[in-house]
Amino acid sequence: MKAPAAETPENIDIVALRERYARERDRRLRPDGARQYHRAAGTFGYYAKDPYTPRVEREPKSDRVEVLVIGAGFGGLLTSARLRDAGIDSVRLMDEAGDMGGTWYWNRYPGVRCDIESYVYMPLLEETGAMPTERYAGGEEIRRHAIRIAEHYDLYRDTLFQTRATALTWDEDLHEWHVETDRGDDFRARYVVTSSGTLTQPKLPGIAGIENFRGHTFHTSRWDYSYTGGSGDGVLDGLADKRVAVVGTGATGLQVVPEVAKYAKELIVFQRTPSTVDVRDNGPTDSDWVASLRPGWQRERMENFLAVLAGEPVEESLVTDGWTATTGLQRHILSGSQGDSDDHDELQDELDDAITMSRLRARVDEIVEDPATAAALRPWYRYMCKRPGFSDLYLQAFNLPNVSLVDTADSHGISAMTEHAVVVGDDAYEVDCVIFATGFEAGVSGVVSGTLPVIGRGGLSLLEAWGRGPRTLHGFSTHGFPNLFQLGAIQNANSVNFAHILQEQAEHISATIGRADAENARWVEPTPEAEAAWVQTVIETARDVSAFQAECTPGYYNAEGSQAITGFTYSPGPVAFHRLLREWRAGDMRDVLVRDEHDERIREDSFVSATA
Ligand code: NDP
Repeated sequence: MKAPAAETPENIDIVALRERYARERDRRLRPDGARQYHRAAGTFGYYAKDPYTPRVEREPKSDRVEVLVIGAGFGGLLTSARLRDAGIDSVRLMDEAGDMGGTWYWNRYPGVRCDIESYVYMPLLEETGAMPTERYAGGEEIRRHAIRIAEHYDLYRDTLFQTRATALTWDEDLHEWHVETDRGDDFRARYVVTSSGTLTQPKLPGIAGIENFRGHTFHTSRWDYSYTGGSGDGVLDGLADKRVAVVGTGATGLQVVPEVAKYAKELIVFQRTPSTVDVRDNGPTDSDWVASLRPGWQRERMENFLAVLAGEPVEESLVTDGWTATTGLQRHILSGSQGDSDDHDELQDELDDAITMSRLRARVDEIVEDPATAAALRPWYRYMCKRPGFSDLYLQAFNLPNVSLVDTADSHGISAMTEHAVVVGDDAYEVDCVIFATGFEAGVSGVVSGTLPVIGRGGLSLLEAWGRGPRTLHGFSTHGFPNLFQLGAIQNANSVNFAHILQEQAEHISATIGRADAENARWVEPTPEAEAAWVQTVIETARDVSAFQAECTPGYYNAEGSQAITGFTYSPGPVAFHRLLREWRAGDMRDVLVRDEHDERIREDSFVSATA
């Protein structure tokens, strides 16, 4: 099929394009917004069960550790590694999973792969003597790297797997946390660090009759290889005689569809909103390039990538790919100096955006042979309305004779499920298996959702303390909750390379704990003044992205079209934030270290008045 003529700023009809985008948004908006999904819990708990590791019985713990780190993904691993570097030996990791890796433990679907360059995504490459085999490494390689980090820093020694913390309670006499878990543990920890992820809890579409389906079904983050065959090696021979439905075409759908397409007798992809699918251009790691690297290369490359994405000046962009090519378009959603909108011409931004989206629609037409399928796969929204996708396999899969696409936009997604079929409008599609690539609840850690109650000084819960919104110093700690640190994006930095963000957070937390120990501090807790000042800084510097998000098709970036996600992270961006943290660490840390009775009184008196 012939691609439409490339659009240039001169021939774009921006008014017509805006109208088209608005129509596409409107036909997807649902009154139930973010409430449309089911949690993979209760009746749907089956979808969250671990298919990878059989349950191992063990004796409950009733001991004491110096630091408990909740979450054994990259955030928890990096924090534990840095704590070990700081000379703290007693570090216990805890995770609901059966092994290390977090995201990469759970997401083992065929085709899973990092969509950020692995040389900047996979942490501690130089420290552990590792080098990814490909520019965008496969998930199993990344999972094994997580294991390598744990082994390198001897972190398996005291880890509690298959364990969920059920309560954290501050003991005001002992100045320690009292930790309870779903395995009957009841132990103490001087410090607690939570790193329980931002996209972890699988979600299912609220489809009428979903529970009636009698065929096989699972979520991509709990891949059932016993049904599909294969073990992550991609040979899904169990699907050879199966009619398979994949629901969802986000970053996961893009990776999983080409693999299922290779093996299923029939694959029907149920799409609500098409992703953008740009060139991936993956390839093996170049050994000459590896030989040319000097010590310190990884940090330099990570900093460079972060700076380029945040719009900070660099002499040369070391990573050149689909992310660095579109940094200007990312300013509407990602934080960074590029967000100082005074310097930008909004109309020019819109035209640049339109040219990129036009190129991506033309790419669909170049690759997909069937015109009706190509039309449905064309994305009509501004570039950062959804997480950008990259693949050299996804669009091509729709040219296979066993693969078809069902567009569900007009019915706001799948209409219903029956015992044997997926229903869209008046059409029922009989299938043997339904695979949900429908994503995760965004930003829902146990601490935020309340499934992990955190009780601080005076019996106050963290959620009560955050009743009118999160209150932290730098996103890490909260007044009234001594010796507790959180990793994550809230009032902290954000980037598509979240592994880098986690690395900075890990270094910050370990440096703070290290200093507290070196100075014999009684505990670590921000003063209310420092906390209030930070909350105010985040609010005052917040960039208002509500106008941009209101025009977007619904998705988790805009809470399904129901609200703008504004003021959640530090808008001036990760580079500015990391600079700020470094300067803060070079100071005396008086606003968090409780060194003597005077400091102690400041915390306790102000807590009484703040909570009265
Ligand atoms: P997403 O939330 O991005 O996608 C969910 C998909 O399910 C969307 O296509 C959505 O459609 C569709 N959907 C939801 N409800 C229905 C319904 N009722 N009927 C039909 N379709 C429906 O989840 P992903 O797992 O794809 O990605 C989540 C995030 O995980 C990514 O944004 C990324 O941050 C991360 N990720 C990262 C990867 C990496 O390589 N680093 C790889 C994979 C994921 P609609 O768009 O219309 O809502």
